[in-house]
Amino acid sequence: MTLEQRIAQVNQSVAETCARVGRSPEEVNIVAVTKYVSVEKTSNVLDSGIVHLGENRWQTAKPKWEALGSRGIWHFIGQLQSNKVKEVVGKFAYIHSLDRLSLAKELERQASATDIHIKAFVQVNVSGEESKSGMEPENVFDFIGQMKQFPHIEVIGLMTMAPLDSDAESARPVFRQLRELRDELNAKGAQEQPIQHLSMGMSGDFEVAIEEGATWIRLGSILVGKEED
Ligand SMILES: *Cc1c(COP(=O)(O)O)cnc(C)c1O
Repeated sequence: MTLEQRIAQVNQSVAETCARVGRSPEEVNIVAVTKYVSVEKTSNVLDSGIVHLGENRWQTAKPKWEALGSRGIWHFIGQLQSNKVKEVVGKFAYIHSLDRLSLAKELERQASATDIHIKAFVQVNVSGEESKSGMEPENVFDFIGQMKQFPHIEVIGLMTMAPLDSDAESARPVFRQLRELRDELNAKGAQEQPIQHLSMGMSGDFEVAIEEGATWIRLGSILVGKEED
């Protein structure tokens, strides 16, 4: 399949899924995850009109960012080590993996030095798998309260990953719990500006994620493909 065909197919699935649950496709934003592909294929993705690109490691993103940086809006979606923060701030407008206070401190330190504004998703380990990164759901309220100290970081949403190797349906309760957590945080007034976004759903389970309220889906293999495709 060509990139154009994959995009058309994803757009159609998004539209059909939204229609099924009475949502507008405009509420669902797509991050094209380019971590599996080269600079050239990433350039083709931008040529197709997609602007939001996701990468999970700075080392993998670097050549693409250096060649194409100004053409896209970059999302850091992987675990972020504090010593990589200085590479990421100023290049990635969105961080989907804010999962600890020490990371927030370092992001703030780097962002304030250059007066850059970062949009962040707090990553939550809803599934409870020990191997998963993200904070425990019960700690998110206090964490968001502490984020007031960091004026260069704006918490716009929550992010989660479904359990590995599970089918799409078994991801549903995980996605649902993330939505319920967001609604609960907003009902309790966790921050002045309500938390709007849910970053959840990947190639294997994005339709279920949309049904459960995803506003950002992160699509690699189904949309961008792999290098050999
Ligand atoms: C790789 C990755 C994705 C995309 O994975 P696909 O299953 O290929 O769509 C989404 N989110 C994160 C955090 C990733 O690391």
